[in-house]
Amino acid sequence: MRIRDWIESAKIKYHPVWIKRWNDDPFSVPPVYIEMSPAGACNHRCTFCAPEMLGYKTNYLKDSILAERFAEIKELREKDPDGLGIKSIQFAGEGEPMLHPKLGKIFGYARSAGIDVAMLSNGVALTEKRIHEILPFTNVYIQISINAGTAESYALIHKTGTHDWERLWKNLANLVRIKRESGSTCQIGANMTILVKEAVLEDGKRIPPNWPNVEDLAQKARDTGLDYVSFKPYSQHPYSTETMKLYGDMSYAGMMDEIMDTGDMLRDRYQTDDFEVIFRFSRFKEYEETDRGYARCLATPTLWSYVQADGVWISCSAHWTNADFHLGNINTQTINEIWFGERRRQHLEFMKDFDISVCRKTCHPDKENRYLLKFQQMSPEEQQAELVTLETLPFPHRGNVI
Ligand code: SF4
Repeated sequence: MRIRDWIESAKIKYHPVWIKRWNDDPFSVPPVYIEMSPAGACNHRCTFCAPEMLGYKTNYLKDSILAERFAEIKELREKDPDGLGIKSIQFAGEGEPMLHPKLGKIFGYARSAGIDVAMLSNGVALTEKRIHEILPFTNVYIQISINAGTAESYALIHKTGTHDWERLWKNLANLVRIKRESGSTCQIGANMTILVKEAVLEDGKRIPPNWPNVEDLAQKARDTGLDYVSFKPYSQHPYSTETMKLYGDMSYAGMMDEIMDTGDMLRDRYQTDDFEVIFRFSRFKEYEETDRGYARCLATPTLWSYVQADGVWISCSAHWTNADFHLGNINTQTINEIWFGERRRQHLEFMKDFDISVCRKTCHPDKENRYLLKFQQMSPEEQQAELVTLETLPFPHRGNVI
């Protein structure tokens, strides 16, 4: 399966057993996927970065606590009557994961518990030594956030020095080589958030859009031996006041044809059997739509969750700073206490009336919410037939990462 087909699909379709039980009793299902932030600190300050509101605090998740919690995840999955449980973790979050000095150990604990591991990173701290620490345990993907096509633009958008651009591409060349030598299944990709508007910082510095540099990035990613490059739209976080000032009024509405044509051109020019160019056309369209297609969030708190670097367990990462979404803390509570406790039961009720018009557009489980609503609206016979069909779908490499 092409990565694009996975990205553009409702990934929960690969989990029919979960769908059936969720439909019968949403409280009973564990999340399939969680995102975890090992480090609150970051070595960059990208201009469009929503977690700026959390202040890049130097919090780090403790490896000893995670070892216990991951072992518990395995135990809960083994005890579950349908084998349901947390199947994957994407290490990303409000800081740069590679700044955690024990990340290799943490990934190893996750893999020992049968959890699929993926990571988002800016790649600058991925030295050869660190690659050898993490790659053996990263079985799904490492996606590098590269929001520019030239050293100058990179330095301005990531708010760093131009030396990081050289360092980054050297690291990626090493990563590709070591991956090939080791026979790792980990997919290595680059991702750009498309910015189509010049932003002016408080000190008057002008940050150019990266839209003119998409081809530079596609070419460099392919020539370095990455597996894919993807391009997605920006999405304004409702609580991030700093990014709101810079990009709150940015729109793709008047340039959809140009976006489609550019995506097609890049695919024709650069895609090969070993390299995929992914333009997330549906996301660009959905970002501009006024109607989300569903009035209630069915994915929260059921399908996914987010764990902050200070251990706070949040049911939806678009509501970091809203205590209504905080379910507990993994530093002091077990997974069972957090997920199957009274707090989550109340939160499930709370979400029935929650007004999602205040939510981030094209949020993480957007396609899942659309699909779950469609499933809920089917008759029992249609649902049964749908589940039988879903059982026949081949399970993709990224199937556990929702
Ligand atoms: S941002 Fe998305 S996932 Fe979060 S509560 Fe709103 S609709 Fe649900």
